[in-house]
Amino acid sequence: MVGIRLRNSMTRKVERLEPIDPQNVRMYVCGPTVYERAHLGNARPAVVFDVLFRLLRHEYGADHVTYVRNFTDVDDKINARAAETGRPISEITDETIAWYLEDMGALGVLEPTHMPRATAYIGAMIAMIEDLVAGGHAYEAEGHVLFSVSSYRNYGRLSGRSVEDMIAGARVEVAPWKRDPMDFVLWKPSDDSLPGWDSPWGRGRPGWHIECSAMAHELLGASFDIHGGGNDLLFPHHENEIAQSACAHPEGHFAKIWMHNEMLQVEGRKMSKSLGNFFTVRELLEQGIPGEVIRFVFLSTHYSKPMDWTAKKAEEAKATLRRWAQLLSERPAARTASEPELDPIVVRALSDDLNAHLALARCNELYIQAKEATNEGNRALGSLYWCMKELLGIDLDDVWEALRPRTVDDMIRKFELGVAYNKSVFGQTIEALIARRILAKRDRDYAESDRIRDALADAGVLLRDVPGGTDFEFTPDFDPAKLENIL
Ligand code: AMP
Ligand code: ZN
Repeated sequence: MVGIRLRNSMTRKVERLEPIDPQNVRMYVCGPTVYERAHLGNARPAVVFDVLFRLLRHEYGADHVTYVRNFTDVDDKINARAAETGRPISEITDETIAWYLEDMGALGVLEPTHMPRATAYIGAMIAMIEDLVAGGHAYEAEGHVLFSVSSYRNYGRLSGRSVEDMIAGARVEVAPWKRDPMDFVLWKPSDDSLPGWDSPWGRGRPGWHIECSAMAHELLGASFDIHGGGNDLLFPHHENEIAQSACAHPEGHFAKIWMHNEMLQVEGRKMSKSLGNFFTVRELLEQGIPGEVIRFVFLSTHYSKPMDWTAKKAEEAKATLRRWAQLLSERPAARTASEPELDPIVVRALSDDLNAHLALARCNELYIQAKEATNEGNRALGSLYWCMKELLGIDLDDVWEALRPRTVDDMIRKFELGVAYNKSVFGQTIEALIARRILAKRDRDYAESDRIRDALADAGVLLRDVPGGTDFEFTPDFDPAKLENIL
């Protein structure tokens, strides 16, 4: 066993993962609040921790890893969306959960072992809050229950800040019912227009932080191995999760290793609606960027570094993936080795704090070796295929399906033309352009023949000179509208 090393945000060191129980390695990751389509940033933790999930399954066995990623389906943003649209809350959350799974699926993200919805664990949250009140760590005030930060000595250890700094630096909500400005809400009252559950403190709903503490305890126990999320959650969300769990379950130590992915930016700027550079995963997919390409771009930057999404990176990722997938399509037998052969250097790179960038660089070396059609080359090609599929989560067969050049028959099907291509509008146009190019070449007007070839390529039509004529094929980016401008 190579052993897995991960950077622990709690100790700020890279540590060797020593599972509490190697028969059941346990990980919890904070999932989305479900009221709208996932934006591209939301996909980053899903992909990062999916790679870790895959690596853990490889190291400890697929049946020996439990991965929990929750859905926050009770939240004031959801309530606000329901009020704005007049739609029932459950309709909004059900729809958003289905979208999320669909979009993450397109990015090759495996479904975690458990995907608990917060609303299914209200009883566990109430029980935990009761324990905190009984233990003197929480108090009731005006229908609210608050966690008393001063009752937990280690508060601030994860974020490395003193309580005084936090009060000064954070926008702490000051409310008359709080004894201390840092105290945070465990339970709050709901009026009849809001979702609510009966509790010892009246009808109300949970605060956000208690959800994760309660669900992690129910599904993973008082001590587990890894807790992850975006670094925007480090404070206060994760700091509060620790305080609640440590005080309610002093027998355990909650998560051993804390991992945080850095934020995603777009073309060097923070992604935000006001800058007009905010987009959803679905929007990118609908623009024809395959999920595998999005994932490849994500994996090219270490999870602990800010990641910049750029159109250029997407183009480069597409070109690389297309090359790898094409080679595999030419020598498909390499893939059918009965046992997946995983390259040890790829495994080692990922085991070193998820160095996916290095793993991809190694995959490129395998690709270069694989170009030789020798036994060794075939082995490298098989290894490339399996490492990409099993560990990095990109199936090169799917890549080829998405990015291979299209034949005339494909395009007839795509544009639902019930006639032969040469009777179709674009078929006739392309043939006319090819004829014109042949004439230009005959007249040695190479500038014109090149112009036609390049303009066709720009429209997504690739020409190939074959004995006795010119053949053509379509790339998946074929745009019939561009043909009109060439003539
Ligand atoms: P939310 O639905 O806002 O609670 O976010 C769900 C997950 O997405 C959390 O783990 C966040 O840390 C993460 N997240 C939100 N925005 C970004 C971003 N721009 N880059 C990376 N992760 C993000
Ligand atoms: Zn959480």
